[in-house]
Amino acid sequence: MSYVFTPAIASVPVVGRAERFPVRRIYCVGRNYVEHAKEMGFTGREPPFFFLKPADAVLVVNNGETGTMAYPSLTSNLHHEIELVAAIGTGGKNIKAADAKKHIYGYAVGLDMTRRDLQGEMKKLGRPWDIGKGFEQSAPIGPVVPAAQAGDVEHAGIWLQVNGKDRQRSDLSKLIWNIGEIIEHLSAAWELQPGDLVFTGTPEGVAAVVAGDTLVGGVAGVGELRVRIA
Ligand code: MN
Repeated sequence: MSYVFTPAIASVPVVGRAERFPVRRIYCVGRNYVEHAKEMGFTGREPPFFFLKPADAVLVVNNGETGTMAYPSLTSNLHHEIELVAAIGTGGKNIKAADAKKHIYGYAVGLDMTRRDLQGEMKKLGRPWDIGKGFEQSAPIGPVVPAAQAGDVEHAGIWLQVNGKDRQRSDLSKLIWNIGEIIEHLSAAWELQPGDLVFTGTPEGVAAVVAGDTLVGGVAGVGELRVRIA
């Protein structure tokens, strides 16, 4: 097969392998920690909801490196959201929460970078969030750690510092919808495929960053992600 131009395939490195993880879709869960839901003006356990980012929104940051994210256009309120990312290795529809692990290739640390001012305007107008969530470099991500090599992600600490100061610090056990439940709900709405990434939500403490800031975040047993805003 040939193409009228060379297609670009987004991909993420895999720890311990030369082969990369090709990215098909990026699904994100909204408001999945109680304290973050509260800071966004919501309470209670609403059904999980999802939005997508384009695959090429990934900004790959190798282990030990600091990625550079250009401060995006049209915003003056760029927010960080540190998240555990599940990387799907085996697709499926209507996957039960109890079977979800079989579909996960591995885990990564990601940032769901958000143009909060634009997202807020769109919310107010009842319009799609894409402009607030799905822009270039809006998904900085570290290497995928194969599931067998990752720690106990269900109970792992998750944290983010900006310029060495704590901004977000929580635990994956505080997810409103756990990883299995997320995959059950997601796969009822979309047929998951190998290469899908699932951003599982962010804990409280989201706030703005500006050019020159350095973000360092991590999930225990998965890794650390460093990004500088240029
Ligand atoms: Mn998020």
